Amino acid sequence: MLQDPQGRKFSYLRLSITDLCNYRCTYCLPDGYKCNSKPDYLSLDEIKMVVASFARHGINKVRITGGEPSLRRDLPEIITAIKNTPGIEKVALTTNAHQLDRKVQQWADCGLDAINISCDSLDGRMMKAIIGRDNLAEMMAGIDIALKSPIKQVKINTVLLKQHNYKQLDQLIDWVKDTPISLRFIELMQTIDNKEYFKANHVSAEEIGKHIESNGWAQILRGKNAGPAKEFCHPEYDGHIGFIAPYSNDFCASCNRLRISSVGKLHLCLFGESGYSLRDLIVKGRETELDQFIANVLQDKPDTHFLHQGFSGGTTDLAMLGG
Ligand code: SAM
Repeated sequence: MLQDPQGRKFSYLRLSITDLCNYRCTYCLPDGYKCNSKPDYLSLDEIKMVVASFARHGINKVRITGGEPSLRRDLPEIITAIKNTPGIEKVALTTNAHQLDRKVQQWADCGLDAINISCDSLDGRMMKAIIGRDNLAEMMAGIDIALKSPIKQVKINTVLLKQHNYKQLDQLIDWVKDTPISLRFIELMQTIDNKEYFKANHVSAEEIGKHIESNGWAQILRGKNAGPAKEFCHPEYDGHIGFIAPYSNDFCASCNRLRISSVGKLHLCLFGESGYSLRDLIVKGRETELDQFIANVLQDKPDTHFLHQGFSGGTTDLAMLGG
């Protein structure tokens, strides 16, 4: 299994398949996606090769992300290919819910195990203010289909923002009373492009944690393949609540994930300076060298990110790598 000099082991790959996004989330791409050059995304065959290499290294969970991954027409084929890779036990997807109601059944039929849907508000006007559009109807219809489908886990990603949806925290929590979803609050992260927005809108995960713990929620243990969230349950609620708290002191100590950008660069940290290109080895089909290169690069993985000190590395926004 892949291991870094700190002894951390890696079982989870986050694979971006495009950096293109059709939404304008105010904390991410407020002016929309800007294409600086002709995109050269990994092809389906290249994705198969890269995932197979990581699977040989003991990666057993892959999350497909973006940009907006559903914008790629071959997403169903990508899900199927990853699902059929020996060693991969779980395929997950993160989406902004664009056309979720029309597409989610097909993804489930391709073998998708888990889906994370981004939803910052249950109020259409607030949603429009935060992400640039109101997609609540297609999202809710899509969540219903997902819950009835073979997809085993449906999670919601919510970024709480002091000047916007923070006042709707209790309304969001009420949602999981009768809905068996996991609602995960992602602490707003500072990127190169959102510094002022971050200052005005950051709410610490600790503050949200205190609020829910004082309302009877109790922390549950992490599963084997769990992501970075701390998860909470409540006897009177069907759903769970989770937190992703990148500013907490112990966040990087439990890091078990690596990232591949849509153009085939291996990123050791979401907030690193740059990635290591695997493209040449992929294009030439050099499997053994690719496996060796990945294992060697892991030795450069830093102990921690430097978000606390206000450094976001080379990360202009999270759409470039998928969060
Ligand atoms: N387009 C897909 C989506 O919207 O879910 C996948 C990519 S998006 C970058 C992944 C997640 O990152 C979304 O839930 C989004 O809300 C979150 N995100 C984006 N920028 C963020 C930031 N600066 N801080 C915290 N979360 C952020």
